Amino acid sequence: MTDLPKLLLVFVLSYVPWATANPVAIALHGGAGTLTRSAITIEQERAYLEILNAVVEQGYERLQSGAAGSDVVREVIQLMENSPLFNAGHGAVLTWEGTHELDASIMLGQNLAAGAVAGVTRVKNPIEAAFAVLKHSPHVLLSGAGADEFAEEQGLTMVGNTYFSTPRRIEALKLFRAKQHAKIAYEGDEKFGTVGVVVLDAAGNLAAGTSTGGMTGKRWGRIGDSPLIGSGTYANNRSCAVSATGHGEFFIRWQVASDICARVNYQGLGLMAAANQVIHGELTEAGGDGGVIAIDPQGNVALVFNTEGMYRASINNKGQKVIGIFGEPYNTVKHGQDLSDG
Ligand code: ASP
Repeated sequence: MTDLPKLLLVFVLSYVPWATANPVAIALHGGAGTLTRSAITIEQERAYLEILNAVVEQGYERLQSGAAGSDVVREVIQLMENSPLFNAGHGAVLTWEGTHELDASIMLGQNLAAGAVAGVTRVKNPIEAAFAVLKHSPHVLLSGAGADEFAEEQGLTMVGNTYFSTPRRIEALKLFRAKQHAKIAYEGDEKFGTVGVVVLDAAGNLAAGTSTGGMTGKRWGRIGDSPLIGSGTYANNRSCAVSATGHGEFFIRWQVASDICARVNYQGLGLMAAANQVIHGELTEAGGDGGVIAIDPQGNVALVFNTEGMYRASINNKGQKVIGIFGEPYNTVKHGQDLSDG
């Protein structure tokens, strides 16, 4: 290339916003658990891969266009809440009584602002209720009927509780109840399927969000880790952003999300090392199942789980995309490429 075209190219590139922007990155999960290839049909597998691919691409493009991390986390989680495939929003699991109680949280890394709701029953997109708590209340966590009332006052879309039900989850509850009565351990999808998103936006801010229906057959107003800041969700620009999925009782006691970020912050560990230590070390030793998606201020991504699978997708600071369900990523391709291109 002669000097003139080269100069022109530099000139043009310097005016294209994405060419000069900071790196952006995104990772998301759609739950972890006993996922075996035999438990899922080819069609179901394809449906999961397609939606994971679509939402990660959409989120990444929004980040590239300069959207705030808090907006992208909410938008992507809403898409997943609206899909019947995930245990969040429409498609959430059922309680012992056959109803839905939903939990969600969001946290921003630049100022540690956070909002969460637990046990909501009427708000269509619980992640929006969590964000409304962050934005429009002096609180961090609202629960039950009060949280629904607050969401309604904020003008969020409200639905009847049966909006969240799907035949698959009704069937899962029947099986769960039958096994409980027969005192047989239930191995189905009583847990896991939660959704979560972590991002690094073009302004250099981290954000994390998580949304779930909890665990099939839960009773007595049980609340898991997903709406608890530090357990299922955490974001701090100094270290990392994390969203978790798995057996909530362990994630609460082991403070999984904030423990990973604390190791990055205080021990100077890399993101992957910190996530591996907590999931494959602490959590596994304790007997807890699940996984995390995590992102650091440079846009490095970690997708770590000790279960057979975790629905997951990410595009890192170099534009490398990973989509996977089971142990190995299906494919690693460039952003914008189809999975079959890799
Ligand atoms: N962590 C969630 C809970 O315990 C469940 C999940 O991740 O699917 O409520």
